Amino acid sequence: MPTNVLVGVAWPYPNGEKHIGQIAGAYLPPDTFARFQRLRGERVLMVSGSDTHGTPITLAAEAVGKAPMEIVEQYHELFVDGCLEMGITFDLYTHTETQQHWDTTHEMFTRHLDAEYIYKDVQSQLFDPKAGRFLPDRYVEGTCPFCGYADARGDQCDNCGRLYDATDLIEPRSKLSDASELETRETEHFFLDMGRMNGPLLEWMKTDKEHWRPNVRNFTLGQLGLEELRGRPITRDIAWGVTIPVEGYDDKRIYVWYDAVIGYLSAAREWAELDGEAAAWREWWDADVNPGARIYNFIGKDNIPFHTIIWPGMLQAYSTGESRLNLPYDVPSNEYLNLGGEQFSTSRGNVIGFNTVLEAFQPDAVRYVLTALAPETNDVEFTWDDFVERVNAELVANWGNLVNRVLGFANKRFGGVVPTPGELDDIDEALLDEVRSGFESVADRYEAVQLRAALIECRRLSQRVNQYLNEKAPWTLVKTDEAAAATAVWVALQAIDWLRILWSPILPHSSQSVHEMLGREGPLFGRQYTETVSDARGSHLVLRYDHTDAVGTWESSELTPGTAFGPLVPLFEKLDRETVEDRLR
Ligand SMILES: [Zn+2]
Repeated sequence: MPTNVLVGVAWPYPNGEKHIGQIAGAYLPPDTFARFQRLRGERVLMVSGSDTHGTPITLAAEAVGKAPMEIVEQYHELFVDGCLEMGITFDLYTHTETQQHWDTTHEMFTRHLDAEYIYKDVQSQLFDPKAGRFLPDRYVEGTCPFCGYADARGDQCDNCGRLYDATDLIEPRSKLSDASELETRETEHFFLDMGRMNGPLLEWMKTDKEHWRPNVRNFTLGQLGLEELRGRPITRDIAWGVTIPVEGYDDKRIYVWYDAVIGYLSAAREWAELDGEAAAWREWWDADVNPGARIYNFIGKDNIPFHTIIWPGMLQAYSTGESRLNLPYDVPSNEYLNLGGEQFSTSRGNVIGFNTVLEAFQPDAVRYVLTALAPETNDVEFTWDDFVERVNAELVANWGNLVNRVLGFANKRFGGVVPTPGELDDIDEALLDEVRSGFESVADRYEAVQLRAALIECRRLSQRVNQYLNEKAPWTLVKTDEAAAATAVWVALQAIDWLRILWSPILPHSSQSVHEMLGREGPLFGRQYTETVSDARGSHLVLRYDHTDAVGTWESSELTPGTAFGPLVPLFEKLDRETVEDRLR
């Protein structure tokens, strides 16, 4: 029985071009993981979308004098283009200005309200007297009350990740004016009763979490163990966002984080509707239909409290007797990929754009380096020297050259077909056993979301084939013993054929090339496509994925002698350090 695996991917704000630090942290890892699970035959549903609400959008729109929706559409499309180019295979990538998302958000809000997990209260909020507006979230900055970081935002500190109320900020400053003194004014809002969620969440966190990354587990247990969670306001004095499904609150909207996490659920429902089976989402989400489904949430570390505390708390509070939803199975959060010692930051100008980098380099070269550098356990530094070195010395020299020289030689000396081997000796058998064992050793690492370790294991196995060839030297052997050379070439081709599968979650495009060069047919993976769909809130562009024709499976099939090769192409391009940065201009 296949397992239903929901791959939930952090919802990016469509407020600018994403940078490669964000791709390495939250968008590439889930695709690699999802591709592996599909090869294994699991039922994968990978969903996300653009987070169209909140102050990051309104601030970006105000900065250029546009309507929020114009900004949303512009950058939503740009991100979709990048995903197509990189091969990030969302079963559905949508956004939050859809009827399904609004309905699902209203449904959850109402359920929370009825169960008294949401209550009304009056709170003090920062108010800019010069601009005449309240200052929700990113409209205010100041010094973090926990770590002293000077540019902390109104809702969360970028430095320490802690959440707080804007009124806790030290020396708050308005983003709307140069007002020297901010006022605090009373305003009525809806609050999520996190205090009531604390106990059940702690119990959940103490059960079967050994597979979680230690930093995620420890951060969460630390926060819950203090037993000091309190009510958090989940509405804002702002005009852009999902409306509040209660009369008399027309001038307020639901807080972007409350609705964004609901996207994992609403996108699954939208996917099911688009697929023509409206109830299909339940096979991943409904704990009464399929309690064994596994939900993974791939995020960057600044999103940990929203995915390990607030969202599971919301799910628990929603799960009354009549319907229960599955909680996250794992939250593989990454640390940061840094550039020049500093976190990639659009505001500080030290960014390498996602779309920009894909215009300059092969997508698999980018995928390779970002996986090799994956900040799974600590912050990692990105440099162009390292990028070039890894592409040339690892990807090209180790794997690309192996494929190209063996296939080139076999094509020339054995009539364009896979040669027929003679009897295998111990060295042949040892190599094949070792590479075949990658279907377990590499699988274990993908399964544990240790993608960098999976890459290292693939690289080690590729290197073993290079060693084998150095030992057997079929290029000289062919002059004296053609049959022995044919055997060595067949063994190397068989190993390459298996490595094609082992590498494919990380290197899907070049693995497809190897697949075709070896004379194999059909696509290893499915097909990505976009379409425009309409609902009561308007029409929106979605990115989708169709796996029906995919032939890739996680198994060591035999490479049949006599199979004709396809046209041979160089697998990877060697880079020149001198010109790399020029390509980005
Ligand atoms: Zn802080």
